[in-house]
Order: sequence, then structure tokens, then C-alpha cells
Amino acid sequence: MADRNDILVQCTRCRNKHQQSERIALPSELGHSMVCPRCGCKNYYDMTPQVAWCWASGLIEMGSEEQVPEGGIIIARGPKAFLKGELLAAARHGWERDQLLVPGVPEAANQREAAEALDKFLAWRGKSNGRRGSNGVIYSQPGKPMGSTT
Ligand SMILES: [Zn+2]
Repeated sequence: MADRNDILVQCTRCRNKHQQSERIALPSELGHSMVCPRCGCKNYYDMTPQVAWCWASGLIEMGSEEQVPEGGIIIARGPKAFLKGELLAAARHGWERDQLLVPGVPEAANQREAAEALDKFLAWRGKSNGRRGSNGVIYSQPGKPMGSTT
């Protein structure tokens, strides 16, 4: 990407994908609004690629590819607008605000049990990989987590 401030977006109406900088300024009550170059819709999804990883504790975090920490296990990738919503629906909510956990991992008795719980979660959620309703969110497949270099 040439401009790091530019982001890939998708129109909520016509589903056209374009860079935010390609949106067209249209006069509105607020001066102008940036609209879809194809259909003129004001709303869009942020399609910036994001990665979700989890810690051995089961805690899930999200960020850009460069933010994946050493020791973090990559569990899913997808557009920013959809990855968080998918995990909010799929993961278990922790005690702290906004804390997301892989079900079964925090209470696992040992590392092997934790790995099994993670595999189960990935196999379950991975069933929708590539399907229309997945909105581009792809889960790592059990036993072969996606490396951060792929
Ligand atoms: Zn559009």
C-alpha cells in the first residue's frame, strides 16, 4: 500500500471495494460527505486486513500483521469491520470489559488440554471459512496454525 493512511473499504450497499481515497465528495448538510464511487452510498465497512491471535491463557487479541506478538498463536484473519464482530459472537467473554477468550482454554488442566480446546474451537468456527456469511473471516485450521509469514 502506497499511502499508509489510506484504507480498503467496502460499500455497505453495492459491495464495491475501493480505497478510502477513491471515495467521492458530495455536498451535504455537513459540508460534504465521502460516498461510494459506484453507487453514492455513504456507509462502508473498514476492510483493513486484521489478525486475531490468542495467548496460552486463551486471551484473544487483534491487530495488524506487524502487531502479532511473539508467542501469540494466530487464530483468524479477516477485514477489520467483520473480524471483531465474528469473535464477539464466537468467543467467550471474560470478566474484564472487552476481554475475549477461546472457550475451554482458560480452564484447561494442562497444555495438551488447552491445545485440544483451541483445535476444537478452530474446527468449529473454521467450518464457515470461505462461505458467504463469513464476510472474509478465515480461521486457522487445527494442527496447522497459519504462520505470520504466510
Ligand atoms: Zn456502493
